[in-house]
Amino acid sequence: MINQNPRPFYVLIVAGGSGARFGGDIPKQFLKVHGKSVLRHSIDKFLSLPGFQGMKVVMNPAFEAPESIPTINAGKDRKQSVYNGLKIFSNLNSEDIILIHDAARPCVSPDDILKLLDAMDDFEAATLCASVPDTLRRSNQDTVSRDDLYAIQTPQAFRYGTILKAHETALPDKEYTDDTALVIEAGIPVKLVTGSRANIKLTTTEDLPMIEALLHKPGRTTIGTGFDVHVLEENPDRPLMLCGVKIPSSLALTGHSDADVGLHALTDALLGAIGMGDIGDHFPPSNPAFKDMDSALFLQKAADMMCDKGGHIVNADITLICEEPKIGPHKDAMRARIADILGVANSLINIKATTTEKLGFTGRGEGIAAQAVVSVVLP
Ligand code: MG
Repeated sequence: MINQNPRPFYVLIVAGGSGARFGGDIPKQFLKVHGKSVLRHSIDKFLSLPGFQGMKVVMNPAFEAPESIPTINAGKDRKQSVYNGLKIFSNLNSEDIILIHDAARPCVSPDDILKLLDAMDDFEAATLCASVPDTLRRSNQDTVSRDDLYAIQTPQAFRYGTILKAHETALPDKEYTDDTALVIEAGIPVKLVTGSRANIKLTTTEDLPMIEALLHKPGRTTIGTGFDVHVLEENPDRPLMLCGVKIPSSLALTGHSDADVGLHALTDALLGAIGMGDIGDHFPPSNPAFKDMDSALFLQKAADMMCDKGGHIVNADITLICEEPKIGPHKDAMRARIADILGVANSLINIKATTTEKLGFTGRGEGIAAQAVVSVVLP
């Protein structure tokens, strides 16, 4: 990956296709894989490479443009779309390197892109390609020799002046499936750079599971803990809320919000797992808006913050510490309620209860304590 002498390059991403071979309502390059579009995955492969100078995307303006990347309207076919894109790069010098990449190839490796750029030291045009490992045969005919066969991929690299001229002189009604075809027609040699076969093109729905697997990154597992205490006292007029469930009792927990000690400990644990401080930072008791607030909203907000970071919950384990009320009969309801708030399966949530053998404030029934541990996977 480390390139001592980066070659400056520009990138044109071609995302104008209608996905006619794919079916469905939206073109394949706008499908989401692991939370971002196939187009965005393709874009992100280039942005942090050494030598990167700038990028534009050719696409149909009816679809959502990628954030912070300039777009150009697609043409009636691929060739026209690329030509529209090339003309927008008119500030480039003829010797500058431009990479043309299909948005539907989100699995291209940074190492292969750098290998392609290396080839531009000696050539005016180069393309990534892959060996063809399968035996090839025309139906009911002889096997086709693989010796001189390559599957052509993108990105394809060109000197700007070379590819612009090839487009200007290309036959108007001839169909070209890639840009090296235009350059070869103009008599310019194209260097084939063998890259990874994992740089597959999303063409049909059959390709989607493979692309998902190739783009999967394991992420890192984080853990957060939470602890909370609220005073418990007789108050028949105030509901006793524990882990999001209303417990029939003449007792109630006191506090500024609904004082749900279980959800508070869990919210703190979740905030801890994503490195976002504690419940008091986000919902200060000094704020009158949170008076008698349903604590489910605190937990929901923490879960939203986790989702914004692209995280998901591995499991959550909550321990309620008290003599009264008895927790056992309510465990299933608590588990289901928390799973519902977090939008996860019940099986990821565990509720435990314990006493302190009549010792201390929980033993005397003066308050309820709660502990929670949450494990999260972050990208
Ligand atoms: Mg609290």
